[in-house]
Amino acid sequence: MSPVTHFLAGWAGFEGWLHNRRDRAIVCLTGLAPDIDGIGIAADLFSRLNGGPETNYYQAWHRLYGHGITAALVFTLCAALLGRERARVAIAAFLNIHLHLLCDLLGSRGGDPDDLWGIHYLGPWNTGAEIVWRGQWELVSWQNMLISIALMGIVLARACRKGYSPLGLVSPRADRVFIGVLRKWRSAW
Ligand SMILES: [Zn+2]
Repeated sequence: MSPVTHFLAGWAGFEGWLHNRRDRAIVCLTGLAPDIDGIGIAADLFSRLNGGPETNYYQAWHRLYGHGITAALVFTLCAALLGRERARVAIAAFLNIHLHLLCDLLGSRGGDPDDLWGIHYLGPWNTGAEIVWRGQWELVSWQNMLISIALMGIVLARACRKGYSPLGLVSPRADRVFIGVLRKWRSAW
């Protein structure tokens, strides 16, 4: 799924379990980390723009290096080292990474019904054990759109109730203004 959907899913799933802004930011960003293996797209573009050979590192690396248990453990370790409540951050980060994998399995195929994206959970060491779901829907699809809208609804409703939103990860001051506006809208309704 898209990074925005992954972020919203991570926030909706785990922010309530974390006690401070820093830990929430770390866990939400860790939920995006598996897609770092899509960096091959930059290498492909660089080669193309510089008249180099036609490469396809994106296809070769994506879902192989970042979407498996090894990467999950590395990302979890990094998250725990950076977090304040380390054990809590480690558990939430590990689960959030797996939520990312589940979301990708559900809805990230290409335009062709056979263009399924599998997860190499044991990658990059073992490329033979690919996890694929045959019912996978398209990356650009009404299902993903609906999930994103529902998640956004959850995040905004909770922001209204609790007094903070993901905006607070960037600027607590802007978040206070945002929450004030949200609450005004809610009471106007
Ligand atoms: Zn992914």
